[in-house]
Amino acid sequence: MSNQFDTKLIHAGLQQGFNEKVTGAVNPPIYLSSTYHQKEINEFGPFDYSRSGNPTREILEKTIAQLENGYAGYAFSSGMAAISSAFLLLEAGDHVVVTKDVYGGTYRFISQLLTSFSISHTFVDMTNIAEIEKAIQSNTKVIYMETPANPLLQITDIKKVVELAKANDCYTYLDNTFMTPLYQNPLDLGVDIVLHSATKFLSGHSDVVAGLAVAKTDELAAKLKFIQNTIGSILSAQDSYTLIQGMKTLETRLTKSSQSALEIAKFLDEHHAIEKVYYPGLTDHPGFNVHHSQAKSGGAVLSFLLSENVDIEGFVRKLEIPVFAVSLGAVESILSHPATMSHAAMPPHERKERGIEDRLFRLSVGIENVDDLIKDLNQSFQQSKLSLPL
Ligand SMILES: *Cc1c(COP(=O)(O)O)cnc(C)c1O
Repeated sequence: MSNQFDTKLIHAGLQQGFNEKVTGAVNPPIYLSSTYHQKEINEFGPFDYSRSGNPTREILEKTIAQLENGYAGYAFSSGMAAISSAFLLLEAGDHVVVTKDVYGGTYRFISQLLTSFSISHTFVDMTNIAEIEKAIQSNTKVIYMETPANPLLQITDIKKVVELAKANDCYTYLDNTFMTPLYQNPLDLGVDIVLHSATKFLSGHSDVVAGLAVAKTDELAAKLKFIQNTIGSILSAQDSYTLIQGMKTLETRLTKSSQSALEIAKFLDEHHAIEKVYYPGLTDHPGFNVHHSQAKSGGAVLSFLLSENVDIEGFVRKLEIPVFAVSLGAVESILSHPATMSHAAMPPHERKERGIEDRLFRLSVGIENVDDLIKDLNQSFQQSKLSLPL
């Protein structure tokens, strides 16, 4: 089959796991079966029980493995289930080095749950290689990356971290939710396990919560499969189907959203209502060169700091098109307010230290008409402008 990504998106699943010879259906059946008939005492079919394997889920798992160029993929009931399962490859006494700009749920898992199992951690600024190097201990087993990170889109140099990890005998994990395999292929750069919140761009329609993990080697794949079957946080057949369908349009959706995001970032960058724009597609982004050496696009997520002369509550109220909500990566544009949403649990001074001010917003650009989006942002800025005291 073609190795072109957009062709693989449509046909990888069909070719790999699904062969509907009886009806010729182009969509995979949703196998709602927990158990599978076994013909003889000593004759085992490919499936026995759906926690261990389900034909619909298997199509999804083979598809993501192909898209990420991995040995095997596994589908979980959420991004957090995939991420925590990957950490469960570790043992008591191990240590992990993690980016301090990690997703909130991952931060909670590492700082509040892994510690109960005597797995320790050090949070570092992953844009600083010397700081990572200093944090590595003799018992460090994993370096955990997320790039671009959330919500300020900081960029980690994947190759440099992989090099450091290999020199110190550790694995590297990377949360590829923001880029997806369309734009960034971490396994090709030497990363060992790629993780996804498939709730976001991969599914693309805000209709499913799902996670995916892809291992580079057969050895890590076998370990992940053991954890998936043992913990049991699998993705259902129904949700696997929803995700398979969503992924088919990934290239079409994300290409449009990313083009619009670049246009919107440039518009915001020039606007007097905006103090600062964070978007790795802008040439003045501090990670621009590194990002473009390892990824094909700035992506569809950007953040911006409103200037003090805009009423932040008015700005949200006056916007008509974007949904004001947590999450990202959907056909509809989603505006989030990190200080009261993703980072609400963080004490205000720590938020401020990380640049997460009350005036910071994150926009995940959807596939609406980009001129409409820009017009909407502009009218909302105009209507929520404060007159500054003299
Ligand atoms: C949403 C998200 C997660 C968590 O995924 P869930 O599907 O919500 O469990 C992890 N990493 C990133 C970058 C995310 O945006």
